[in-house]
Amino acid sequence: MKHDCIFCRIIRGEIPSRKVYEDDDILAFHDINPATPVHFLIIPKVHVENLYDADMGHQAVLGKILGMAGELARQQGLDDGFRTVINTGRVGRQEVYHLHLHVLGGPDPLNLGLKGA
Ligand code: AMP
Ligand code: ZN
Repeated sequence: MKHDCIFCRIIRGEIPSRKVYEDDDILAFHDINPATPVHFLIIPKVHVENLYDADMGHQAVLGKILGMAGELARQQGLDDGFRTVINTGRVGRQEVYHLHLHVLGGPDPLNLGLKGA
């Protein structure tokens, strides 16, 4: 099913992104408004709004997102660690309703938050 959400449009190439990694199941790209010196997102290609809506049918792709995070972080030079964040719904202050894992890192250990987190 075709979705008009912004991240589905990035997956289809209708909106440009700075790609970090892509395969059949997931896409990683740099956040357009980075909260830290290195800030990229890893998303499933299948449209699922968030962890609230995800179910065991998404187990493989969610596992792949987490399983790739370290390798992609390493490629981006995050050898000293990084923070991962998944915002869910209004209380989680989610802005884009297509599930995404934030990977945040860089040299400043005091500036690794998202919106004060
Ligand atoms: P969240 O609050 O977890 O939903 O975060 C959504 C993230 O998507 C924010 O960090 C935005 O800066 C980022 N974002 C929104 N539009 C784009 C885009 N076109 N390309 C890259 N990142 C985007
Ligand atoms: Zn989507």
